[in-house]
Amino acid sequence: MGKLLYEGKAKQVLEGDNENEYIIHYKDDATAGNGVKHDQFEGKGVLNNTISCIIFDMLEEAGIKTHMIEKLNDRDIRVRKVEIFPLEVIIRNITTGSFCKRLGAPEGIVLDEPIFEMSYKNDEYGDPLINDDHAVALKLATREELAYIKTTTLKINELLKAFFLKFNLKLVDFKVEFGKTADGEILLADEISPDSCRLWDVDTNQKYDKDVFRQDIGDLIETYKEVLARMQGK
Ligand code: 5GP
Repeated sequence: MGKLLYEGKAKQVLEGDNENEYIIHYKDDATAGNGVKHDQFEGKGVLNNTISCIIFDMLEEAGIKTHMIEKLNDRDIRVRKVEIFPLEVIIRNITTGSFCKRLGAPEGIVLDEPIFEMSYKNDEYGDPLINDDHAVALKLATREELAYIKTTTLKINELLKAFFLKFNLKLVDFKVEFGKTADGEILLADEISPDSCRLWDVDTNQKYDKDVFRQDIGDLIETYKEVLARMQGK
C-alpha cells in the first residue's frame, strides 16, 4: 500500500502507483452531526465500496466522467488523482433533513423540480450553505466550473432516480463531490452510497440510508445490506 496522504471520517486516500492516481480505502467508521456522533460498524466500508462502485460504473456507462479507474478489492479502489472542490453538492427531490430544519418546511413533500444546493466543506464553520457568488468570491471554483458541476449533478439526479426506482427505492436527496485533474478536467469523485443518499422504500417510506444511524432508528449494516441485495436482484 502507498503512503497515507489524507484521512477522512470514512475513508483514507493513499498514494497511487503513479503521480496521476490515488488509492481510496473505505473504513468502517460512521459519523453524523459534523463528527459529534461517531461509531464503527464491521463491514460498512465493504458495503459502501461495493455499492458506490456499481453506481459509478452505471454513471460512467451513461456518459458521466468520474474518477473511477478500477475496484481493487472489497475496500480499495484505484482512482484518477483530483483536487476536490471544497463543495458539498446537494440535490433534493423530496423535502427532509436540513432543508426542513432550516426553512420550517413540512417533511416528505415531493418537489415539482429538484432543488440544487451547495455547502462549503468546512468543519469549523459547520459546512455552511453557499451560492455561486460566494464560491467565486472565495475562489473555490470558477463560474464555468460551477455551471458544469450543476448541469452534471442534475443529470446524475435523473440517472440515480431511475436506477434506484428499479429497486423500489425513492431517491429523496443526495450529496456528491467533484474534483479537478492536473489538466483541468472535472470528474465526479468521492462516493455515492447510503452514507450520502437518502433512500426511502416506494411502498412504505422506510428509510434505507444513514438516517437509521443519525436518528437511531435501525441497524445500519442490515439496512445497507438490503440496499445492496436489491441492487443485485437478490
Ligand atoms: P441534509 O442537508 O438534509 O443534512 O443532507 C442532504 C443530503 O446530503 C443527504 O442525502 C445527506 O446524506 C447528504 N449529506 C449532507 N452532508 C453530508 C456529509 O457531510 N457527508 C455525507 N456522506 N453526506 C452528506
